[in-house]
Amino acid sequence: MRIKSTALNNLKLAIKEKARQLGFTLAGVTACKEPAHYETFSAWLDKGHHGTMQYLADEKSRARRADPKQILPECKSILVLAYPYAPLPQDAGKIASYALNDDYHDVLLSKLKQIVSFIEETLGHTIPNRYYTDTGPILERDLAQRAGLGWIGKNSMLINPTQGSYFFLAEILLGIDLESDPVFETDHCGTCTRCIQACPTQCILPNRTLDARRCISYLTIELKDDIPEDLRPLMQDWIFGCDICQQACPWNRFAQPSSFAETKIPLPILTDELGLTPSAFNQRFKLSPIKRAKRRGYLRNVAVALGNTGSVKDIPALEQAMQDDEPLIQKHAQWAKAQIIKRHPHE
Ligand code: SF4
Ligand code: SF4
Repeated sequence: MRIKSTALNNLKLAIKEKARQLGFTLAGVTACKEPAHYETFSAWLDKGHHGTMQYLADEKSRARRADPKQILPECKSILVLAYPYAPLPQDAGKIASYALNDDYHDVLLSKLKQIVSFIEETLGHTIPNRYYTDTGPILERDLAQRAGLGWIGKNSMLINPTQGSYFFLAEILLGIDLESDPVFETDHCGTCTRCIQACPTQCILPNRTLDARRCISYLTIELKDDIPEDLRPLMQDWIFGCDICQQACPWNRFAQPSSFAETKIPLPILTDELGLTPSAFNQRFKLSPIKRAKRRGYLRNVAVALGNTGSVKDIPALEQAMQDDEPLIQKHAQWAKAQIIKRHPHE
């Protein structure tokens, strides 16, 4: 689709302004071509570092990540956006900051749709498009770096010098040829290794990827079965995701407050969480990303957290969970009770 270059430039500026009005704090454009880090991603899959996330490794998924045109053949440029969320206070671990609000997929997808409508209204016709946040078959951190939003840190997060890394990324593939923004070339990690030292499971690899099989985010959200026993004591009291490598990063001292910042769900009391019935779980997390772990996974995580941080007074709640209909919860509650008894043998 050919549109005069001045008009395109004005359109790009107007799109960025529209995105800013909708709460996005970063916006950049990159061309629709192969991501620079595809080979790293492919090698990561070949080594099995994706664990049980098999959907990442199938042929179609690989092909789409290697070439965004496999998703949208008419794609000419990609708009990459960042939308901030509030970091947790450092002493309030347990649930990753991003998950304390309504499901970001719902919130952001409606905003992305508004940007597409804005572009189409401005042009006076429809355009081929696809948009995603997080779950798309696309290497979004790679595209974000190429669109000038920041660099990929040693903790594998996209980091911006003024915004830190507490933001969601989103992408709109567009069938119009917007001019690319300059690639973000500088690596501001330098000699810092704070995230690597802080990671309790030592899963940060030297090539800025993670061994997901050991990452607490994976273990608490993506893994559907037993958590390996050797990793359970390392998980501290994180019950959904993990922020430790973001909390350790000095660039996050610049993190900005966001319109998406208020905490919508109360920080959990572990023994209360362990008592959630299926209907209470559904009710509590209806609008939350936590529903992704499902009740069985979430209560499994809560049991592990109690095993790591609980005391004798928590044993009745664990014994109750040992009677749950779900064997996964029973087993992890049993493990947790044994851990507490090991720590407090005379109580
Ligand atoms: Fe390590 Fe937690 Fe970061 Fe995963 S999210 S890499 S476990 S610090
Ligand atoms: Fe880079 Fe240091 Fe931040 Fe890790 S903690 S991502 S090494 S700046």
